Amino acid sequence: MVIASLLRPAVSRCSGFKPNLKPLVRKMHIEAIPMWTGSHNNYAYLIIDEKTKDSMIVDPAHPPEVLPVLQQHISSGGINFKGIINTHHHGDHAGGNKDLLKQFPGSPVVGGKDCAHVTKTPTHKSTFNIGSITLTALHTPCHTQDSICYYAVDGDQKAVFTGDTLFVAGCGRFFEGNAKEMNKALNEVLAALPDDTKVYPGHEYTKSNIRFGKSVLDSEPVQKLSAFCEENDRTEGKFTIGDEKNHNVFMRLDDPTIQKATGKTDPVEVMAKLREMKNNFK
Ligand SMILES: [Zn+2]
Repeated sequence: MVIASLLRPAVSRCSGFKPNLKPLVRKMHIEAIPMWTGSHNNYAYLIIDEKTKDSMIVDPAHPPEVLPVLQQHISSGGINFKGIINTHHHGDHAGGNKDLLKQFPGSPVVGGKDCAHVTKTPTHKSTFNIGSITLTALHTPCHTQDSICYYAVDGDQKAVFTGDTLFVAGCGRFFEGNAKEMNKALNEVLAALPDDTKVYPGHEYTKSNIRFGKSVLDSEPVQKLSAFCEENDRTEGKFTIGDEKNHNVFMRLDDPTIQKATGKTDPVEVMAKLREMKNNFK
């Protein structure tokens, strides 16, 4: 665990200058690697424990964009590469495993049961470590049955890697599951994380998600995120679980406006209808 170097500024007794002394903080470092040469705006994430330099990469699906970044960190002594983490088996998440393993033979692949070359599928709520960072596997079947989100904690830093289960202001399609499962994944499993947990999704889909969100719920948090998207192309790690509970319509199933828009009140039926509306939204 690295202690971020926060130098105490020299204080001149006569200037009256009061330094802004920040407490020493421990840090995990998360580097997003956009893999945007395809059409799906995927993210890979490099998680680094700054003390030991131990590091794992989440969903390195497109090696031509990922390997140069990894090689650069390795040759500069910035990381000890410890393996791959996958959020689910789809090719745009686990499809780079084969080529990465060619470069790093024998590396562990932690992921859902259907992920290519997986060596370990963690059970729900089990933990593993990258240096001093503790990751908890959260099973969230729906988009695929092997979908796993990973909740990472280092000191007071909290992050969750949500693959195609939770996007900023949206959720994944129900390819292998149903509305009941997505409701559980978003509104029981992920909603139970601390509100200040930063969200690192598998894709940058926020612009289109918030356009749909706005059509259903034109609230202040939704407008705020919409304005953010006008100015920013990237939203990964910028919003928290607490933010999602405010601006993500799929996490506000008991909101009267959303119930009215869907014509449903039962949470599972609201979820099913919202997903159907999003699928048909132009
Ligand atoms: Zn997927």
